[in-house]
Amino acid sequence: MRELKVYNSLSRTKEIFTPLISGHVGMYVCGPTVYSDVHLGNCRTFISFDVIYRYFRYLGYKVRYVRNITDAGHLEGDRDEGDDKFSKKARVEQLEPMEIVQKYTLGFHKVMELFNNLPPTIEPTATGHITEQIRMAQCIIDNGYAYVVNGTVYFDVEKYNKEKPYGILTNRKLEELLEGTRDLGGQDEKKGRLDFALWIKASSEHLMQWPSPWGMGFPGWHIECSAMSEKYLGKQFDIHGGGMDLAATHHTNEIAQSEACYHTAPVRYWLHTNMLTVNGVRMSKSAGNGFLPGELFTGSHPLLEKAYSPMNVRFFMLQTHYRSTLDFSNEALQAAEKGLKRLLEAYNHLEKLSIDTKGPAGNKELDEKVRKLVNEFDENMSDDFNTAKVLASMFELVPVINSIKDKTVDLSSLSKDTLTLMQEKFKNYLFDVFGLKQVTETDNSKLQGVIQLLIDIRREAKSKKDFVTSDKIRNQLLQLGIAIKDEKDGGMSWSVE
Ligand code: AMP
Ligand code: ZN
Repeated sequence: MRELKVYNSLSRTKEIFTPLISGHVGMYVCGPTVYSDVHLGNCRTFISFDVIYRYFRYLGYKVRYVRNITDAGHLEGDRDEGDDKFSKKARVEQLEPMEIVQKYTLGFHKVMELFNNLPPTIEPTATGHITEQIRMAQCIIDNGYAYVVNGTVYFDVEKYNKEKPYGILTNRKLEELLEGTRDLGGQDEKKGRLDFALWIKASSEHLMQWPSPWGMGFPGWHIECSAMSEKYLGKQFDIHGGGMDLAATHHTNEIAQSEACYHTAPVRYWLHTNMLTVNGVRMSKSAGNGFLPGELFTGSHPLLEKAYSPMNVRFFMLQTHYRSTLDFSNEALQAAEKGLKRLLEAYNHLEKLSIDTKGPAGNKELDEKVRKLVNEFDENMSDDFNTAKVLASMFELVPVINSIKDKTVDLSSLSKDTLTLMQEKFKNYLFDVFGLKQVTETDNSKLQGVIQLLIDIRREAKSKKDFVTSDKIRNQLLQLGIAIKDEKDGGMSWSVE
């Protein structure tokens, strides 16, 4: 299998990826907290890992991809402060917490489908794994790294840090981390300022609660990912992913929990996506700068100049490497829309080309250039999934394809092998690895048939010099966003504007 390099947050370097079991990849990605709609920032992370998942499959790995649904236990503050997100929303919307969970899980799946993200192979829920979480909390208590106060179980960070570096993932010393936290002021039942809850005692009015050895309560947020990743991927697995914002707390605590219970580092490669920002500020629910995917697809948000299709948005994201920040703007989305159209048009032409005979290329230099650019797809994707560079190589090939289309360059300049390679790799990358789809309207075969019929009627009208009818067809289709072009050879083609 081709050598693949991935940037591991743990070592802060690019490393050659070697799976635990040859030919197999175990990957866990933190999923959404389903108490409200996912915003476009969340989608960036899920799209990035979808492309990573797709690339592993393309390389021939068998992937077990686990992405959880957080449907319990996530408090408003990431460090056990505030209200339970589900209970609060349930009270506001006057629904059962599980109705909230159901509503936003379905919404999340719909959005993932619109973006053409493949479903994970396992999608476990926190509420479906209460027993596993209790068992793990008990294991950590038994090993001496957690303590119980009044029905709540806390992880003892300072004790753990005496044996293993707690801040290993973000390369921070305990003293530095302690500086960033507020004083407990004697009010808190925790022993240490960085201690976090594995299990939280529920008050009688709390809507979601379960029996445990420590009384009625609910799990802390961090324990769910440790318990579920162990259950489906083992005590140690290949890849754990999520947004960079999760590294300092959630993922740091996941490592500590697994080490404290199983005495082994749970993850070999930690992969973190960078943030989607708006005017340089991280998109988040709390900052109030979040676009919902639905608002993008309809153009209904006041900051949007127009509607953008899911594939347009996906393409916009692919143009930036997953570890760089990506700033949202109308201009960038519109540029991406044009770019995607240009690329798909070139592909649609490329796909139709064929060379009958094997033989040397008519233009050796051009043939070599094409081969080099096509080979760069795999090279750049295998260099920490650099989608941006793959697209740059593709865009360098577009003028070559267009010159063949315009007949300024003869197809026989290329060898049959080179043409076939370019066709295959374009197809692999655009659809299998990048998960793009042809613009939906063009996908619809019935619509294609109807437009073809209108083109035929227009051709007949033109041949009879009935320009009223032929112009009417062209103009009305244009109003619907479908452009008919008269080709030099007398034929007609159409595209969605
Ligand atoms: P949450 O539902 O808040 O737990 O977030 C789900 C995923 O989205 C996590 O992996 C977060 O790190 C990620 N995420 C949140 N905000 C952003 C953002 N602005 N850009 C990229 N990823 C984000
Ligand atoms: Zn998680």
